[in-house]
Amino acid sequence: MAKATKTIRQALSYQPQHAVWFGANQALFNRVVAFYFEVIQAHEKVLDLPRKEALTALEILTHATEKHPNPVMPLQEIAEHIPAMFRRAAINAALGSARSFSSHLKKWRQRKERTRAKGKKWSERPPVPPRTWNKSAPFYVGQWKERTASSILLKVWTGTCWSWIKVRITGRELPTSASIGSPSLIKHGNQWWLHTPIEKSFSSPANTEQQVTTNTATKICAIDLNLGEQIAVCTIQTVEGTILATKFIGGGRRISGFRKQQLGWIARNRRKTDIIAQGEQDNADLWRKISSHDDALAHLVSARIVQFAVEHGATILVFEHLGNLKPEKGKYSRRGNSKRAFWMKGRIFKYTKYKAWGERIITSRVNPRNTSQECARCHSLIARYHAGQPATGYAPGASLVRCPDCQMQGHADRNASLVIGQRLIARYQKPFQEKPQAPLRAERVVKATGVSSSQVAKRKEKPSLSQARHGGGNEHGTAQDGSLWMEERPSSIPHPLRLFNE
Ligand SMILES: [Zn+2]
Repeated sequence: MAKATKTIRQALSYQPQHAVWFGANQALFNRVVAFYFEVIQAHEKVLDLPRKEALTALEILTHATEKHPNPVMPLQEIAEHIPAMFRRAAINAALGSARSFSSHLKKWRQRKERTRAKGKKWSERPPVPPRTWNKSAPFYVGQWKERTASSILLKVWTGTCWSWIKVRITGRELPTSASIGSPSLIKHGNQWWLHTPIEKSFSSPANTEQQVTTNTATKICAIDLNLGEQIAVCTIQTVEGTILATKFIGGGRRISGFRKQQLGWIARNRRKTDIIAQGEQDNADLWRKISSHDDALAHLVSARIVQFAVEHGATILVFEHLGNLKPEKGKYSRRGNSKRAFWMKGRIFKYTKYKAWGERIITSRVNPRNTSQECARCHSLIARYHAGQPATGYAPGASLVRCPDCQMQGHADRNASLVIGQRLIARYQKPFQEKPQAPLRAERVVKATGVSSSQVAKRKEKPSLSQARHGGGNEHGTAQDGSLWMEERPSSIPHPLRLFNE
């Protein structure tokens, strides 16, 4: 059995006074989290323990019991009469933050050492522990009760005492088949929401290899993520190579314009304040604004990708590996923008994978090398150009492509998306599977490989694009005087580009 969790968000309706109490409850929760974060910093070894043991250790350090009447750092000095479940929720939240901080610090130290070992200067600032806490308060079992489809009783800190209050729930109901986790009170703008994680179980889907090798009708949804206007371009194709649907998910220009504006403000503020305190995150509000926009968009795009895959019955998603961020030159806002766009691609992948799993769809990744330079139909090198320009050369980022060999014409990102899907299929295809074609294909493999290897051998450096193009043309010519099968099953043909991939 496989498991997937998701969050059900429900709006609450309550008296105005309750909103004040929810605020007080959250403030107290964050005070307790901050306290435990400090306790952990003072007892770092706690982080080496598994979650349950760490929790116990922290309770012994802070909570007076008959067995341990004098804790080292008593929680009581921060707040009295904290319910056990409230305390535990805070400890878990603090442990999560402390683990994340500690791993960032560790990575920073490693990078520092590596850089110094190379004799280079190191100027990156170390990660800093959170200075403010703004976590939402979860309600563990015992802190909530009598939940129905339309109401729930929550035990909250009102600012003066602990009190059970009843709130009405509106919006989507919880599914009856799923198991329900601890709800949290979340503030969006001026409205309080109840977020409830639910976990559903289902039979595990077959793995990629099984699906691709045993059923030629398996549908694959391939996604090309971009930094331009089309954030994601998705195509559905079968293992056999039949292309069924395409979807463009736009909005790249808008988010990029928004980021540019915010980053511009940040740059201006930095110029105004001559001294930025060492290690201090300046412009925290502006950063948070950019972050939450990026995150919201990543959620939206990932939800649309999964919806598209579900609509067409795709059971596998495939992305290309994101690789490393290529540092860009130029103004601060431009560099910052491309960095954020790169991070957003990572988030879209993460969210999509997670949401797809809930639909029994598995997610895979392939080598990104040259996916946008290859023809999805014949695998020759394509010309990429802007509308209204001649269809020659390769203009990175341009929206149109044309294949000089098979005359394929189309949208550049859609072509890349198809190539990504084919790469996944090619990974599992055995070259000599089908008997009647086997000798012919074997011959081609030798021929094609021979042509391009000799080219590679002649040149010791990386072959240039034009040479690769020549190789592509050659191989294509060889294949063309055969039959039509290559049109139908483009991914099974070895081609010179591959040589450069490996
Ligand atoms: Zn072509």
